Amino acid sequence: MKNTDKHQGLRNQLVKLLKEKGIRDATVLSAINTIPRHLFIDSSFENFAYQDKAFPIDAEQTISQPYTVAFQTQLLEVKKGQKILEIGTGSGYQTAVLCLLGATVYSVERQVKLFKKTQNLLPKLGIRPKHLSFGDGYKGLPEHAPFDGIIVTAGAPNIPHALMAQLKIGGRLVIPLGEETQIMTLLIRKNEKQFEKHEFGDFKFVPLLENKN
Ligand code: SAH
Repeated sequence: MKNTDKHQGLRNQLVKLLKEKGIRDATVLSAINTIPRHLFIDSSFENFAYQDKAFPIDAEQTISQPYTVAFQTQLLEVKKGQKILEIGTGSGYQTAVLCLLGATVYSVERQVKLFKKTQNLLPKLGIRPKHLSFGDGYKGLPEHAPFDGIIVTAGAPNIPHALMAQLKIGGRLVIPLGEETQIMTLLIRKNEKQFEKHEFGDFKFVPLLENKN
């Protein structure tokens, strides 16, 4: 579990690239500059860890591209101490970014192998989400709701109603919507019934799966 000057140099370059691609949030860039992404992926990919690319992790899933992580996190506008729900823990990299921003993080993963691996990894890196859960994120985490923000890190064919219901008034839900490719979508809860919808560019995610094992 080495984190060397060479890795730091590569992270500096990655952050420079993310700035060039339009990421502006200094707190997000600082988190990416700090987190050892090479420790979240298989060591055979270590040399590529700081390229702006998605990579395979276990259970045929992927660690999201750093630009995507930065873009989604920037849209979430996380403030210290906010309660954030992540759907799709995967490698735990996005979870780590949220923790570094000072959020109280809840995260759900439906692949048991990834759930266990990430639950084991994060404490070793000194990263402590409030709650990691194994289950179907389509349902959210009603027992811990409401949340200031919800981030979905898999492509969803539609917006799960449970997630909308678990968002605080004023809260933000960031979700990639679509089947083949996804449109990054931000919903802001205006009141009990109304949500304001904003759409951003196209992205590509592994699918958010409902009721399947
Ligand atoms: N945030 C992760 C992204 C992993 S890819 C990272 O940075 O590594 C998306 C993840 O969503 C996968 O791990 C997949 O297993 C998970 N997923 C898909 N459908 C899900 C569901 N219904 N509930 C919870 N997790 C789900």
